[in-house]
Amino acid sequence: MFKILEKQTLAPKVEMMVIQAPYIARHAKVGNFIVLRLNKKGERIPLTIADSDRDKGTITILFQRVGKTTESLGMLNAGDKIQDVVGPLGHATPIEIYGNCVLVAGGIGAATLYPIIKALKAINTSHGVIKDKENVIARSPETPACRQTGRDDEAIPKDEIALLEPALSEKDEILRGVYPEQKDEILRFAQNDMRRAQNDRSEGARNDRKMAFSEQSYNHITVIMGARTKELLIWEDKFRQFADECFVTTDDGSYGRKGLVTDVLKEVVESKSIALAVAVGPVRMMKAVSELTKPYAVKTIVSLNPLMVEGTGMCGACRVKIAGETRFACIDGPEFDGHDVDFQELESRLRFYKEEEEQALHLFLTRTKRQVTSNG
Ligand code: NAD
Repeated sequence: MFKILEKQTLAPKVEMMVIQAPYIARHAKVGNFIVLRLNKKGERIPLTIADSDRDKGTITILFQRVGKTTESLGMLNAGDKIQDVVGPLGHATPIEIYGNCVLVAGGIGAATLYPIIKALKAINTSHGVIKDKENVIARSPETPACRQTGRDDEAIPKDEIALLEPALSEKDEILRGVYPEQKDEILRFAQNDMRRAQNDRSEGARNDRKMAFSEQSYNHITVIMGARTKELLIWEDKFRQFADECFVTTDDGSYGRKGLVTDVLKEVVESKSIALAVAVGPVRMMKAVSELTKPYAVKTIVSLNPLMVEGTGMCGACRVKIAGETRFACIDGPEFDGHDVDFQELESRLRFYKEEEEQALHLFLTRTKRQVTSNG
């Protein structure tokens, strides 16, 4: 049994839960998901791991109350228990230094993107990139310039490192929070690069330095978040902590810019060279994003959410067509290249049991209402 430690309603019908699941928390990677079952006869539902804490042994999930199982899950509270939580499942998101990245979140799709933005920023830090909004201040010894001229990190006097610290702490509080144990290491890298810049005047080193300090050598992240209306927008504050820039759209114009996420995305891809787009949200949004980025040859990752049963590749319920071939979202995904996805087939498979799902929800709500009435 898995205990719910915290529950919060983030928006109408959108719930967040923190669940005690130490094994999953210890092994979870960005992009992984879980499959949960409320009771022994319950339906299995897949949900992205929106956050995890190894030390506390917890995972965070977000879900929308749309069907019978998510409605009953939403009725549970802190202290209640869930029968089974299986995971972590699925492939992890490839986290690299890409350069300019755009993350497009449609509604509750933000849950899937949150660990991705954290990891894309954390890799800047773990590679020794310390960045204030516009300037890269340091790179790690992994860069060609550092390898070529390498120094003994230990030789840097502590007081010189201390001189750097105030500036870094102001600028990178959040990034260092992701990998606090690397703080000293990063400060040493920063100091190394500053010294090298002063001492090494060879042309090779100058070129390497230029490359190491270029825009493409760290992840610069633009976030575009869209919701139908203001009250459905979730986790804007959490995304703003990590985003280099963040745009919000609402379909009805109640907050941010009126329109769809793709309206802003078009402007972003036209204004600069984008190395990676990641889009998570309704199928029609991921389709629209993929169609928009294709002519610009922007690598586009989408996270698919087909019907899924056991989540380990045996049942085949989550099959999707990718570049003309059948794949299973549970073991081959859930992330795929958006330019290869057959979105039409995905949409029609998602509609397959619509009627039965609606009936099950109706019956469940009627029964629950009857129980509440007869209990008093
Ligand atoms: P929604 O229908 O309210 O749409 C959210 C935003 O997406 C809109 O405000 C708009 O900006 C954009 N959008 C929608 N249709 C578009 C289109 N045709 N073109 C361009 N942009 C469009 O979203 P919701 O009700 O929050 O639903 C979220 C969906 O995300 C659900 O279908 C859920 O299953 C899915 N989801 C997927 C994952 C995953 O990992 N794949 C995770 C969580 C949620």
